[in-house]
Amino acid sequence: YESKQRAGSYTRYGAEFDHHSPERLHLLGDLRRALDHPDAPGVNLFYQPQVRLADGAVIGAEALLRYSHPERGVVNPAEIIETAEHSSVMRMLTERVVDIALRQLRAWKERGYDLRMAVNVSVRDLQSPEFTDFLTERIDAYGVDAAKLQLEITESALMADPRRVLQNVQRLSDLGVGISLDDFGTGFSSMQHLRRLPVTEIKIDKSFVTTLIDDPDNAAIVSTTIDLGRALDVEVVAEGVEDENVRKQLEGWGCHAGQGWHFAKPMSADAFERWMADHRKHN
Ligand code: C2E
Ligand code: MG
Ligand code: MG
Ligand code: MG
Repeated sequence: YESKQRAGSYTRYGAEFDHHSPERLHLLGDLRRALDHPDAPGVNLFYQPQVRLADGAVIGAEALLRYSHPERGVVNPAEIIETAEHSSVMRMLTERVVDIALRQLRAWKERGYDLRMAVNVSVRDLQSPEFTDFLTERIDAYGVDAAKLQLEITESALMADPRRVLQNVQRLSDLGVGISLDDFGTGFSSMQHLRRLPVTEIKIDKSFVTTLIDDPDNAAIVSTTIDLGRALDVEVVAEGVEDENVRKQLEGWGCHAGQGWHFAKPMSADAFERWMADHRKHN
């Protein structure tokens, strides 16, 4: 099973992660070629709804990368980011993701959907000031409100070069872009980042959320994080909401919004629109 997985896709690696393995270099080369192309063949975004728990309204979407390799099929995004992050491909990839996401945000706005768009960014992007320039230019070009864009930053990303990252995040925040701490609770310095960065949102990691009904420790972590968000006046979004019991519990604790399979899996832009229309009817 293991060898079949490794031969057929890039989905699983253990501790022996190797950036220079032939498979990695191959993937990197193929990605670069795809991104050099104006249409970036194979590079797509899926969208997963974020739902306000109090009334079930769809408040926005998280854009999630889906890269389908000509021979290997869809490659796990986490694998792609790990591979690309150490090269200039990361920047190309993020710019492409931002461009597609903002264009989609604009299209939905024109069709009367008042949504916000969450985009994941990598350490690589936050270390260079050019990314902020790029983002500013794109927001302008598409005529979308900066406050409708939410950048999801993971803690590991923040550790790399705190001062430079901090400067760039501050600039983005000054533009009005929302700053979300992704996978909150899984890193080493969640609280420091919360104090130092202009955070507008905390995203509780799914590893705490999925099991909170049966795991009292996770329940304590989640409910305390929601209280913390309220005390600091920062919105809290729970990821990995897989069933109604979890949704109800989160709502009871006053969590602002949720995202997860209970509502919908990540899907194409077309499927997302159909889902929204249907969700509105039943809500
Ligand atoms: P993330 O930002 O924490 O995204 C949430 C992940 O949880 C997504 O995995 C999503 O498909 C998955 N998920 C959503 N609902 C549920 C649920 O109810 N249960 C469970 N078990 N999982 C759920 P995905 O799409 O495989 O993405 C994995 C990670 O890859 C993301 O984690 C993010 O860190 C990274 N990523 C994805 N797209 C991009 C991108 O465009 N740029 C960057 N830099 N990173 C990205
Ligand atoms: Mg995210
Ligand atoms: Mg997350
Ligand atoms: Mg996560």
